Amino acid sequence: MPGEPCIFCDLASGKTGAPLLYQDDAVVAFSDIRPIAPTHILIVPREHHPTLLDVGPENEALLGRLLAVAAKIAKERLGDDPSCRVVINSGASAGQTVYHLHLHLLSGRHFAWPPG
Ligand code: AMP
Ligand code: ZN
Repeated sequence: MPGEPCIFCDLASGKTGAPLLYQDDAVVAFSDIRPIAPTHILIVPREHHPTLLDVGPENEALLGRLLAVAAKIAKERLGDDPSCRVVINSGASAGQTVYHLHLHLLSGRHFAWPPG
């Protein structure tokens, strides 16, 4: 809801002073505070959308940008094995804990399938 505190809005706006690994007019990226892989980067729209299901056709360009930024960061930052997993948790049962849409870019270890 507009006006409610949101840690990812604060991170994206620079309010927290946390370092950004990438930023443009619509998207920022920063390291996850509790990494679950050697590389664990969050790719976050500046605009607040609580979950993936809160975006609509008017946000297609933004969704494309989020994936394009994930690929750009992966190509730039991952080394000899650029294998990665890109994840969106949407809703509590899927493991979402921060209700501001974000992609997890994970790399640097083996990831099982199906996920837990
Ligand atoms: P999810 O569970 O998909 O909603 O992912 C939220 C992620 O945000 C988790 O991996 C948390 O470790 C991460 N997180 C929470 N607070 C912060 C923060 N202040 N800075 C960076 N990452 C955070
Ligand atoms: Zn937010």
